[in-house]
Amino acid sequence: METITTIPDLRERLDSERRTGRGIGFVPTMGYLHAGHLSLVATAVAHNPVTVVSIFVNPLQFAEGEDLDSYPRDLAADSAGCSGLGVDYLFVPSVEEMYPSPIDTVVKVPSVAAPLEGVARPHHFAGVATVVAKLFSIVGQCRAYFGAKDWQQVCVVRRMVSDLSMPVDVVACPTVREPDGLAMSSRNVYLSPQERVQAPVLRASLDAGLDAIANGETDSAVVEATMAAVVNTASLASLDYAAAVQADSLVSDGPLHGEVRLLVAARLGKARLIDNDGTEI
Ligand code: AMP
Repeated sequence: METITTIPDLRERLDSERRTGRGIGFVPTMGYLHAGHLSLVATAVAHNPVTVVSIFVNPLQFAEGEDLDSYPRDLAADSAGCSGLGVDYLFVPSVEEMYPSPIDTVVKVPSVAAPLEGVARPHHFAGVATVVAKLFSIVGQCRAYFGAKDWQQVCVVRRMVSDLSMPVDVVACPTVREPDGLAMSSRNVYLSPQERVQAPVLRASLDAGLDAIANGETDSAVVEATMAAVVNTASLASLDYAAAVQADSLVSDGPLHGEVRLLVAARLGKARLIDNDGTEI
């Protein structure tokens, strides 16, 4: 595995791989890799002749007062994990390399970004879409692997790729969970032992919503109330939202139908956790 820190170096390597007919798999991350990230990496390695993983904690997607400075980092462990899985290139640009001067161009996908996470974090998805557009421009034609754990992010990236005709196939991979159901997240390290015990309540709230739908409920308000009631049983959890929506538009347009997504967000102490799951009616 080669670790690359500059944009021209990565472009040169990937252009020459493509010239010899080798397709590229790409996994963008912010590092501090856990089994969820590594499942995306393993899938990319299995399905592509060449795999690139990027590690970049993108300042654009953090608001004032969020955890940009304290975001966990461990490049040595990340590098060992990637090389052990057969990654070819680890791209680790500095902030100066990515943003040598304040960036003026912003990519927005307003309708998909507005609900759910967009309410709590109004500038987050513009930061995500902008850095992902920049990374896609650097990496070039590729298959790009994202976690369904961040479902709204997948929707934003898919819409951006489609609207801007980017030469990228977006692949969504299943959420990897701890044995008790908590979705793996770099931010789980913020949980105190007591909060960690209660954190699987997000998974339990999704299960309650899925059960309601399996029992014939199609009223999103009823499903959402069922999900919220479960989160509210956890004394240390403060519910942000519990939503039952159409999987692609992220809004409900009458009785739930077809591909449905349940999404939940809650704060437990310093950690703001999100989770989601889907079903078809
Ligand atoms: P992040 O480093 O948090 O930006 O995440 C990088 C990628 O890993 C994103 O596509 C996430 O959706 C994905 N990811 C994060 N947690 C998980 C998980 N538990 N299971 C699967 N994918 C995940």
